[in-house]
Amino acid sequence: MSATADLAPWIAAQSRQLLAQRGHAWLLQGPSGLGQYSLGLALVSAWLCEQPAEQGACGSCPSCHAIAVRTHADLCVLMPETVMLELGWPLGEKAQDAIDKKERKPSKEIRVDAMREAIEFAQRTSARGRGKAVLVYPAERMNHVTANALLKTLEEPPGDVRFVLASEAAHQLLPTIRSRCLTHVMAWPAEAQALDWLQAQGQAAADARTLLRAAGGRPEDALLFAASGREPRSWRSLPRAMQRGELALVADWSPAQVIDAQHKLCHDLLALAAGAAPRYFDAADLPTAPALPALCAWQKELAQAARTAEHPFNSGLMLEALVSRAQTALNLSL
Ligand SMILES: [Zn+2]
Repeated sequence: MSATADLAPWIAAQSRQLLAQRGHAWLLQGPSGLGQYSLGLALVSAWLCEQPAEQGACGSCPSCHAIAVRTHADLCVLMPETVMLELGWPLGEKAQDAIDKKERKPSKEIRVDAMREAIEFAQRTSARGRGKAVLVYPAERMNHVTANALLKTLEEPPGDVRFVLASEAAHQLLPTIRSRCLTHVMAWPAEAQALDWLQAQGQAAADARTLLRAAGGRPEDALLFAASGREPRSWRSLPRAMQRGELALVADWSPAQVIDAQHKLCHDLLALAAGAAPRYFDAADLPTAPALPALCAWQKELAQAARTAEHPFNSGLMLEALVSRAQTALNLSL
């Protein structure tokens, strides 16, 4: 079976388009949930594939197999350890050992050690003779030191190595890194395409629509919502539950999830007030928009709360405060 058959249709189309162009370094950029990682992996797989077709990697040659089982000698994935673990990539021996012994937690940044190994990798000769590839994701998780190390290799690539940097915040990358890459802006799927894909991933038709809305049209984020264990239906009842100050609906959500949901609710009410269509909720599920100044003040507070959401002192108390604040904002009519 072809590896490209597994790709979402909008990713497959972009992969074909990029493979038709030359370039030793691509920067894939766009918001989360559009498939940067999938597209990056499709590109490096096609570059290393022994029988690549126009649409990409064959999915059945020894090279494709080695990527499928995460042991390709000519592919280096450069990711924060937390992301490696999430996506099923093995950590280096030393790193795994340190984490197993609880000497440290998996890193959320791309570590300097990992970058050093990647640079050594870039200097080596290709093991399978089809060149080498480095996949960096999410590229914005490089700190200043790792980014500068990568820059040197991008400036003078040692011949047969190609790069894909995938980023959900490309503006945070060094301008000198951006300028060394060909930029590709991730395409958004059409709504019908995204809904079909969500159903193919096992979501019921009615839920797929709610999930896609909740994720603002980003299909992979929609799947993350489903995987978080929250009921898609709870999304539809959320606006009115917040207006009534009901904690029960979100009692088992994380503070970050509640803040995100309230941000989206606030966004949609501001849109309605400006005469625009809501984006994240169905208009029928929204309460009457409160006064504009109340919404603006609430939005500011949510932005502030988002900064502490990952480390709340007490998440139960934080949820209570968030719901009560939402209730106040949503009932201010003057
Ligand atoms: Zn292949």
